[in-house]
Formats: sequence, C-alpha cells, structure tokens
Amino acid sequence: MLRFFNTLSREIEEFHPLEEGKVKMYLCGPTVWNFAHIGNFRTFIFGDVLRRYLKYKGYELTHVFNLTDIDDRIINEAKAREISIDEFTALYITAFWEDFDALGMERPDVTPRATHHIPEMIEIISKLIENGHAYESDGSIYYRITAFPDYGKLSKISFSGNIQGGSERIDTDKYDKEDARDFALWKLVGETEKPGWDAPFGRGRPGWHIECSAMSMKYLGETFDIHAGGQDLQFPHHENEIAQSEGATGRQFAKYWIHSEFLKIDDVTMSKSKGNFFTFRDLRDQGFSALAMRYLLLSVPTRKQLNFTFEGLQGAESTVERLRNFRLLVQRSSVSSVAERKSSAFPSDAQGEIAATPPVSSAADVALEKFEAAMDDDFNTAAALAAIHDMVREVNTQLAANGLADNERTAVLDAILKFDSVLGIFGKEESGSLDEEIEKLVEERQEARRGRNFARSDEIRDLLAEKGVILEDTKDGVRWKRK
Ligand code: AMP
Ligand code: ZN
Repeated sequence: MLRFFNTLSREIEEFHPLEEGKVKMYLCGPTVWNFAHIGNFRTFIFGDVLRRYLKYKGYELTHVFNLTDIDDRIINEAKAREISIDEFTALYITAFWEDFDALGMERPDVTPRATHHIPEMIEIISKLIENGHAYESDGSIYYRITAFPDYGKLSKISFSGNIQGGSERIDTDKYDKEDARDFALWKLVGETEKPGWDAPFGRGRPGWHIECSAMSMKYLGETFDIHAGGQDLQFPHHENEIAQSEGATGRQFAKYWIHSEFLKIDDVTMSKSKGNFFTFRDLRDQGFSALAMRYLLLSVPTRKQLNFTFEGLQGAESTVERLRNFRLLVQRSSVSSVAERKSSAFPSDAQGEIAATPPVSSAADVALEKFEAAMDDDFNTAAALAAIHDMVREVNTQLAANGLADNERTAVLDAILKFDSVLGIFGKEESGSLDEEIEKLVEERQEARRGRNFARSDEIRDLLAEKGVILEDTKDGVRWKRK
C-alpha cells in the first residue's frame, strides 16, 4: 500500500485515488526565462520518479506539467533583447526539453503553456468576480481573501490579527488592494502595451497563480488527485491556487499535495537570484554524466534537503558506473543451466545438489520486495537504492564463486529492469541487441561444432573476433567476453 506525506493534512496518508486505478496529477513546471538549474531538476526528477512509480503500481496516469512562459522576468528580458516574449521563451523551452530528456525523464502526458490558456484563465476570473471572490481596483483584478475563509489551510500560516501591510511574505505591491493579502489575478496593461490580452474586465495579463488553476483544471477536472511542486511554492503559489480554484468551483481542488525539499549548496538554497547555482549544462561541460546527476538528485528522499557537493557528484559517477558494469557482467555471465552446473565441478551443497531455490533468484526477489516497500514508504529512494546495492553485492559474490545459472541471470536482469523503470539510473543498454546477436552466433558455432562443421565454426570465430569478441572454451561450455 502506497503511503506518503500529504502537506494538506501534515500526515502520512494511504493513497486512494478518486477513481480506482486512475491517477490525475499536476506538477508545477519551470518559468522559462533562463536555463533551469539542478535545484529545479531535483524537483522535476522527483516528479519523474513519482510518475514512474505510480505506473509501476499499475495506475493509469494523466500527468500534467506546465511551462510558465509569461511573467515579469520574461517580459523584462525580452524587452531588453528587443524580441517578442515568444521568441525569447522559445530559446529556453527548447533548452529545457533537451536537458529534461538528457536527464532521463519521461515526457509528461500534457505540457501546457500559460500563454496558450488565457481564455481559460479569463473564465475563472469572470466566475470569481461574479461570485464576489474577486474585485477590480485601478483596472486590475484582485482575489478577495476575506471571501475564502479556508485561506491558509495548506501552508498553515496564521493570518490572525491585523494583517494590513503585515508580514514580509505577503505580496504587497503598488496597486490598491482591499487587504494586503489579496493578490493579483489580472494586471492592467495599456492599450498598446505588449504582451496584453483583451478580457471582459479590461485588457491585461494574468497573474502567475491563476495560470496553474486554469491549466490543471482544464486537463484534470475541478478535483484531481495529486498536486506537487517545490517547497517554496507551498506559499503563496499553491495556497492561492486553492483559493482561486475552490473559490470558483466550490469543490475541493487537489486531494494530495506533495512538496519537494530544496537542493542546497554550502547549506544555502540553490537559486538563480542568489547566483549559487549550476545548470545541467555547466556540470555536463565539466565532464559529469547526466546519469550521475540524476542518481545524486534522487538519492535523498524528496522531503529531506540535499546539499550539493562535487565529491557527492563524483561518488554518484562511480556508483552509476559500478551499476552499469554489474549489469554488463550479469548479461555476459556464464549461460550454464542449473543442470549443467550439477554435473560440473562447481561447488554444490552437501548432497551434491543445487538448492531448489537458487540463492541469486531469491536475492533478486528480496531486493524487489524491499524496493517496493521503500518506495511505498513516502517514496524512500535512499532505502530503495540500498536494496539494489545489497542485491548487487550478493550477486557479485555468487558470480565470483559459481557463475550464474540461466534462471538466476534472468531473475537479476528482470529485477534491474523493474528498478530502472522507476529510477532510471542504469541508463540505456547500448549493447543489448548486440549481445543477443553475439549470443546467437556463439550458439550457432556450438551447433556447427556439434555437427563437426569446423569450417563454419572457424568462420564464426573469425566473425566474432572482428566484433572484438573473444571466445573461451571452459569446462562449463563456451564463455565470451569483449577484448
Ligand atoms: P521556477 O522555474 O522558479 O518556477 O521553479 C521551478 C521548480 O523548481 C519549482 O517547483 C521550484 O519549487 C523548484 N526549485 C527551485 N529552486 C529549487 C531548489 N534549490 N531545490 C529544489 N527545487 C527547487
Ligand atoms: Zn504552479
């Protein structure tokens, strides 16, 4: 049973989707005004692991991940470069998906852009004006917090007492608002000013929060299962999304909320504004692999902070290398069957029999059980990785001592496939089909030898040599390895 921490209740809850077997989930995506940094990618990789694990559990998933392609930073940067915001964001959207793919993330099912959903935003704002949850001031439209008594239910921030001009965290801007907590849904822009969109309540552009209410409800419905994002979005962004959506529909917005903790560097949150960040590209250009970055970023459970260090990244590099080598070793391990091993000189138990349950297959089963238990426990990726490393250790011992029987080899490779369908840390099997081709040739050569067709057998040996494959005749049959 999958259980995880729901920010809304501040408790670990069992996961029960609204509709059995189906999950609808929304993850706040990037603001495309610059290259995303690896802090952003920590949150997005968690979203990817969450997506893959829900599929692993057999759920049919609709996963929406938005791109914020309009905000003050985008407008200012585009102005400075004297290009349109579309031209400006196109550069960073392309770069974002390149990095996203390179980091082994699966593309979400729907990836809406804010500027393509202005009519949906206008519709929600109109409803909010109609039912008294929003008002106009100086041509802009604001959300009226006093009309939504549940305000604060996600972030648990208390707004009691005199709130006018209150805490620093409250968005106080130059416009006239009834209450300091009220936030802009629609910002007035001049007749010729760009970007701007016409609306029944005047020409303007949307506030940030309304974008996510509009895009999530359009693709997932008024009430959906999971809403996720980085810890910093809990307040005000997600609190405001709830106020807007529930204020407009009168129904619960998202049932479960998940917030990822920060990636830090020297114990300070990595962020663009502080300048203490690395992009994926920075690290790749320093020679680090995407696989190592992915491993490092998912190695600590999402509700714990992670401090970035180059030693940590170097360690992740060695670990993924070890995992990849392990898979190769298992793929190329002896293909002797249990029956062959019985008659071979391999050590066996006291009765001269191979145990009915080969230890390696059970190591794979145990690892899979532990992996799933860890992931079910609030997505404990650290414990899930420990289960994989335990299996690797046990299988390595067996490999060195006895080699692997066919069924053992299959059990280990199947387990790796399952782990990797969620974590994606073993990387692509570049040599997968090549290995199969080699194995076929080795088998054909055996056939030829059995049929005393030595000319064909030598021919195959040469062909394999050309491919850099060396054959070794051992008492357990033929083994092959690369030069
Ligand atoms: P932004 O592009 O600023 O809208 O942020 C995109 C996502 O990255 C949001 O979900 C943020 O919460 C998340 N994020 C930003 N900085 C960090 C960080 N240092 N560690 C983890 N997630 C972050
Ligand atoms: Zn959002």
